[in-house]
Formats: sequence, C-alpha cells, structure tokens
Amino acid sequence: MFTAKTRYMHTRYPLVLATRNTGKVREMEGLLTHLPLHIHTVRDFPDAPTVEEDARTLRGNALKKAEALFIHTGFASLADDTGLEVDALDGRPGVHSARFAGLAATDAENRSHLLAQLDGQANRSARFRTVVALVEHDGTHCFEGVCEGHILDTERGQDGFGYDALFQPAGYDRTFAELSRAEKNAISHRGQAVRAFVDFISRRYTR
Ligand code: IMP
Repeated sequence: MFTAKTRYMHTRYPLVLATRNTGKVREMEGLLTHLPLHIHTVRDFPDAPTVEEDARTLRGNALKKAEALFIHTGFASLADDTGLEVDALDGRPGVHSARFAGLAATDAENRSHLLAQLDGQANRSARFRTVVALVEHDGTHCFEGVCEGHILDTERGQDGFGYDALFQPAGYDRTFAELSRAEKNAISHRGQAVRAFVDFISRRYTR
C-alpha cells in the first residue's frame, strides 16, 4: 500500500528555503542536514517573486513568503520571519526589525539605531522570536522559537549577522556573534523553530 511512510522514505523530498540571507541559509542547512531533503534556496529560482514583508505579524510574513515561493516553484517551501523584541521599547522593533533604522537600512545601521534608542536605558532585556512557515501540497504549518537575552551597550564578535553582535543570550557571557554556528543553533530562536519543523517532518518517516 502507498502510505505516508513509503511516500517519503524513497525520495529526497524537495524543499525550497525562501531566503536570500546567506547567514540564515547556512544556519538552516546546518539544522536540516540529517533529513532526506533535497534543499534548494530561492537563489535557484531567479524569477521567483520578491515578497513585500508587510504583514502585521511574524507568522503573517513567514506564510506570505512561503506561499509565494510554493506557488512559483510547486515545491514545498519553508520561510522564516524573525523579530527582536526589546522590553524597554515595548517590544519594538519586533516585526519591523529589518527596517528599524529605515526602509533600506543595513544590519550595521539597525544595530546603531538600537544602541541609540537604548542609550541610558538600564533595562536591556530582549528576545528573538522566529516563526517558520511550511507551505506544501498537504497544507500549511507554522513553528515558533524564542530565545531570551539582553542587549549589550557595545558590539562584540565578528561572526553572525543582523543584531547578533549586540545580543547576549541568557546564561551566556558571549554574544551570538561570538558563538560558533553550532552553539548558536543549539539555543537560538531559529534553531528551536527549525527543530520543531524537523520533528514534524521526521514523524513522516517513522509512522
Ligand atoms: P528577517 O526575518 O530576515 O526579516 O529578519 C528581520 C531582522 O532581524 C533583520 O534585520 C535580520 O538581520 C535580523 N535577524 C534575523 N535573524 C537574526 C538572528 O538570528 N540574529 C540576529 N539578527 C537576526
């Protein structure tokens, strides 16, 4: 009989990652290596539409990106959207993290803007939140991960991207930009969300 198990066991399931961010692609590929997936990224589809991330929630943006890529490619598509929630800023920049310092802001400009916003602020607590959305023929599924920590008052570390050099995860004395990729993946918001996705996909091979 053709069961879910036989369907997924004998093929490498094609999956397209809906991101052009090389830092994210590296992190996600590292988390997915042991699965029988054939991973593509949006770079393999030069005509893929650019999606405006204008939803009001991380979940809305992640679904929007994954849906657009699924419609374009016909392959299962995985997208993530991440926000940095700073308590002293009432949860900002949140869903607006990529354009905190302006529409075309670079990572460095966003980090400088964050430091300026928190100048003189004693409460530095913050968290990263990621929603990963999977859109495939069978439907859509979302997975969430959260990593608590705080914002330093100067940048530290050379690795990583985005706000990594300013974010020190709870229980660590190094920033995300000072951790190895494996150390970051083990505790990060994206690591948690992608592992929830991995658990979900892995169940297909065991039922
Ligand atoms: P997006 O999910 O790519 O839209 O990311 C939103 C913003 O958060 C961008 O400015 C990213 O650079 C930043 N960002 C996303 N993930 C991370 C991370 O793991 N560490 C630091 N910054 C991140």
